[in-house]
Amino acid sequence: MFILRAKDQIDLAERIGEHLCVTPIPPMLANIWEEAKGMGNPARDLYVLTRPLSVATDGNYEAQTGDIWVVFHPQDLERSAEALLHELAHAERQPPTPEPHIPATIDEDWDEEAATFTRAAELAQEMGCGAVIPPARLDAQLTDVEELRELHHAAAQLFGIIDPFLARSTYKALRLAAGRSIRAVACCLLHQTSSS
Ligand SMILES: [Zn+2]
Repeated sequence: MFILRAKDQIDLAERIGEHLCVTPIPPMLANIWEEAKGMGNPARDLYVLTRPLSVATDGNYEAQTGDIWVVFHPQDLERSAEALLHELAHAERQPPTPEPHIPATIDEDWDEEAATFTRAAELAQEMGCGAVIPPARLDAQLTDVEELRELHHAAAQLFGIIDPFLARSTYKALRLAAGRSIRAVACCLLHQTSSS
């Protein structure tokens, strides 16, 4: 599958006059980035953007290039910091490689997400910014992961999908169609699959 790299998407936007990159990088995010690099994090470049490169996403780590992008939320910088810590944890768990490991199953995909959320909270503690992801926030994230695992299984079952990447795309499309409410999708999916 051909996927445009983050840097190419950003360059493309610049060419048509849309300035996506926030410069200079806001100090809170720059500090986390520098701290992570000092700890040996293998991520390569950081882009702080005015909007996401894919819908309903706050950030991404591209294992093929090592690049990370996060959305800048000027009114909620901790949200951007949380996204950066999460993507740095992904980079740490899967250093850049031309052929990254792709989860083979939905469970493997969400096990990896749970481990990444946990590592991001540890990273925050290690960097002295534990308030960005306090224990209660991590608990909520891990609860969300289990709910999303169940919903992705339900979406996959409904559409006869086994590939976790396709399951994520399908779930995201359903969520957008349902007005981005996890509850609305859960209601629809769980009703469908329990009655099928
Ligand atoms: Zn993730």
